[in-house]
Amino acid sequence: MDQEIGDRIGAKSGPQGTVADTIVALASGAVPAAIAVIRISGPRTRDVLEAFCGGVPEPRHASLREVGPPRLATLDRGLVIWFPGPASFTGEDLAELHTHGSRAVVSEVIEAVLSLGGTRLAEPGEFARRAFENGKLDLTQVEGLADLISAETEAQRRQALAQAEGSLRALYEGWRAKLLRAQALVEAGLDFADETDVVADVSVKADAIVTELLMAISQHLADRRGERLRDGVRIVIAGPPNVGKSSLLNALAKRDVAIVSEEAGTTRHALEVHLDLGGVPVILTDTAGLREAEGKVEAEGVRRAVSRSEQADVVLWLVDVTAPIWEPPVALASKKRIYALNKIDLAPGGRSERDCIPISAKTGQGLERLIEALEEEAAFAADAGVGSPLMTRARHRAELEGACAALKRFGDSALGSELKAEELRIAARHLGRLTGRIDVEEVLGAIFAEFCIGK
Ligand code: GDP
Repeated sequence: MDQEIGDRIGAKSGPQGTVADTIVALASGAVPAAIAVIRISGPRTRDVLEAFCGGVPEPRHASLREVGPPRLATLDRGLVIWFPGPASFTGEDLAELHTHGSRAVVSEVIEAVLSLGGTRLAEPGEFARRAFENGKLDLTQVEGLADLISAETEAQRRQALAQAEGSLRALYEGWRAKLLRAQALVEAGLDFADETDVVADVSVKADAIVTELLMAISQHLADRRGERLRDGVRIVIAGPPNVGKSSLLNALAKRDVAIVSEEAGTTRHALEVHLDLGGVPVILTDTAGLREAEGKVEAEGVRRAVSRSEQADVVLWLVDVTAPIWEPPVALASKKRIYALNKIDLAPGGRSERDCIPISAKTGQGLERLIEALEEEAAFAADAGVGSPLMTRARHRAELEGACAALKRFGDSALGSELKAEELRIAARHLGRLTGRIDVEEVLGAIFAEFCIGK
């Protein structure tokens, strides 16, 4: 038994060090399903095919095979595809077995694979991790792939696919190459410190590269559209109490998520619904009414409502046609705003305000126009069009901010050449960590854990 467990944990080889285990996992969705895809990657893949699939098929061609241990009853009949390394997803020898998607078939086929020494079940994200370790994908591509698998809307899919195909990698590697050139120039200056024209010449060239890079990275950092598209554009419905914010949230979400009450100030807590507006993911929040609070609980609700609105990408300011018109609080003056005038069913042909979309949360009147306006703002906030590659994660932001800070310090004229060279090294290290070229061990675990088993 111990031997068997030992075999599953890993096969060691001699002087070259550890040979990777051969890993196996169900790569398709939950069983039961019509078809299940079992993925195998590693040095014993070939042996698995020979032992359980009647031999190694022609590379990258689907072959119909009996699957199962020889001389025993066939476990299943399915398609077998063989991807010899390095031209495979992981860069290793890899095979896919497309079997019937029952619990029994999948577990017996996986058990059969595990009965060979040097094989074990894959951990979450382990196939992608091997692809990264074998240079098939950089870290931004791995993250793009994780996002593509969890993409819920059309625009998210587009952004994730571009990133998985290397759009951010190309941008960041391009910046790193420029930085390394500046670094080489500064270091050349150090070697020729006695020759003043050489030093002056290289430092002018290095300064020009750093200025250009600093501008490009700062612009990239200022643009939050990629992160909004990945995480959702935050739209907050705000306004005085009782104007119909909860009713509107319900109407927009087409499901009962908020409690609607006749009494002013009853929506004390923010409620959230996730919507797909024209391909852009939107997180729509309802807030407590913004007015002078009477009770302690309500005051807290108002404080939170203002703070939530301040964090929002777009504020949907709602007013009531039958009540005095309120202007949004000054704190929200700089926010992107959409104005809507509710309860127009109570004042047909009544007052209309400029730039205010007349609606009725009750009858649904005007909601189409409001949704169009929200879609437009969401698309604008998240760059739903295909533009230049955008940063999508806090990890990117942190590394780029680190690089930017070092480049700014480089610009300090009081800094000696040695220290300037060091700042460029720091900046290059940040860019290298973005793509995973250098010391990223500590972030790898977090990134690959996002995947399910089999990816
Ligand atoms: P909130 O405090 O802004 O969230 O407002 P609610 O959604 O709780 O609505 C307050 C009251 O206004 C409730 O009685 C709703 O039924 C009513 N109400 C909301 N929208 C409309 C509307 O479009 N027309 C009419 N006639 N009543 C509405």
